[in-house]
Amino acid sequence: MTERYAVIGHPVGHSKSPWIHARFAQATGQDIAYDRIDAPLDGFERTVDAFRAAGGRGLNVTLPFKQAAFRYSQELSERARRAQAVNTLAFRERIYGDNTDGVGLVRDLEINLSRRLAATAVLLMGAGGAAQGVVGALLEAGVARLVIANRTVQRAEALAARFPRAAASGYGEVRGPFDIVINATAAGLDGEALALPGSVLASGTLAYDMVYGRDTAFLQAARAAGARTCDGLGMLVEQAAESFFVWRGVRPATRDVLDGLRGG
Ligand code: NAP
Repeated sequence: MTERYAVIGHPVGHSKSPWIHARFAQATGQDIAYDRIDAPLDGFERTVDAFRAAGGRGLNVTLPFKQAAFRYSQELSERARRAQAVNTLAFRERIYGDNTDGVGLVRDLEINLSRRLAATAVLLMGAGGAAQGVVGALLEAGVARLVIANRTVQRAEALAARFPRAAASGYGEVRGPFDIVINATAAGLDGEALALPGSVLASGTLAYDMVYGRDTAFLQAARAAGARTCDGLGMLVEQAAESFFVWRGVRPATRDVLDGLRGG
């Protein structure tokens, strides 16, 4: 019998997740249907309740509901507990909440982009849901220096305080160099770059923007400084593959799907 999954967010019309999961299902022979659910801002719980009541088996959760999904979960994976945010819900005997953003980012960096994280210096920009989801996985991968910078410095400080080896900073005070600079903010979508000191981006740095399909102001500034750049499409595909594994117990290959999204 076909089992139902979906991505829930607001807005969600742009989401590539249905396409990605349809490819995974086809390649692994899993009988699933995967839709988009646009939930009202004040209606996350009742929308998920209705999806479950109609037989839904799992959800990917995107902006702005990752904290709501964390609260909705009855059982949490260790990585969701660490992140205090949930991007994957599985409806088992209990409601299981997981977070696959961190492992998705680490796999994209280490496998798809061949950048080993062990003993590197990483600047993570942002302290919202996306940043929360990846700090634990970056530290677990062996990052030696992790600085979290955010416009609202107190949010960076609160996030860094939850992890023994992370430090917090404002943008103007960050001191490089860094091997990898990750933009986990929504800034730059409007064409305005974050004001980073010159020491942060250099040739040899990998500048990674979690936003995908857009040449953001951050990526443009990084290229001008001679840094290598990459968007977050690989992270999107890798976090989806991990969610698929959480739901189905089967790990889909990602390379062809990523190539397909990049038009290759
Ligand atoms: P969020 O929880 O709303 O957090 C937004 C972050 O952006 C905060 O750190 C906020 O700083 C910062 N910000 C927003 N506008 C800014 C501006 N004009 N100048 C400076 N900082 C600004 O959002 P999120 O869930 O973390 O998502 C962030 C981005 O990552 C989104 O574009 C999302 O699509 C992307 N993402 C991609 C993937 C992927 O798989 N590739 C996965 C997750 C998220 P303050 O704290 O100061 O407000």
